[in-house]
Amino acid sequence: MLDAGTGIRELGLKLDEEGVNKLDLLFSHFHMDHTQGFPFFTPAYHEGTQINIYAAPWAEHSLAEPFHRLMDQPSFPVPFKYMSADIRFHEMNGSSQLGDVLVRSQLLNHPGGCIAFHLQYEGKTLIYLTDHEPYGSAQDQEIRDFTRGADVLIREAQYTNAEYQLKRGWGHSRFDDAVSDRRDRVWSEEACHYTSRPSARRSVSGARVDRAAIPLWVLEARYLSRPGR
Ligand SMILES: [Zn+2]
Repeated sequence: MLDAGTGIRELGLKLDEEGVNKLDLLFSHFHMDHTQGFPFFTPAYHEGTQINIYAAPWAEHSLAEPFHRLMDQPSFPVPFKYMSADIRFHEMNGSSQLGDVLVRSQLLNHPGGCIAFHLQYEGKTLIYLTDHEPYGSAQDQEIRDFTRGADVLIREAQYTNAEYQLKRGWGHSRFDDAVSDRRDRVWSEEACHYTSRPSARRSVSGARVDRAAIPLWVLEARYLSRPGR
């Protein structure tokens, strides 16, 4: 599982139905739009379920601290310590082998930090790249190299060019940033570009865009956790 936005609530109910009791949860970072679903993730309340949480080291803080803060009074009635699952934290540094999946991470340009994930399984790769603002620096090329050749790329495409003029420095990409990478064939197969802004829903949600003569899917973030839609 990748991040814990609001879609993780429904996913948790489905995992309960299926009796899944061992889970790996990868966090790109701990901004609220990536964590706020976690208090409503029912598997975390089940004794006998093991949840392994992977995230980048956060300075001198423990990785558990954002979860304690998220569920602290007066924001939420049930403290994190009352979640009965066996929740273990792992610092993501470079690469980790999670079962049959090899996971690598890449630092992105975002206030407070954020990492992208490169998941490799049976010769196929999926890249999950959220919350990144290209700055025209050497890091941009590093990130393009990280995404090169992916079979599926999930990448944010947050702003139009006009919106970006007002949001420069907020740590997010323009739709054109995503399209230009695609045009340069950084990825080989399929790309899902998403926006997490409800205000963009009517204009782009679920739309297929043939800009740059290459099919792209533009989705709301929550759709990504609901593959049946
Ligand atoms: Zn963020």
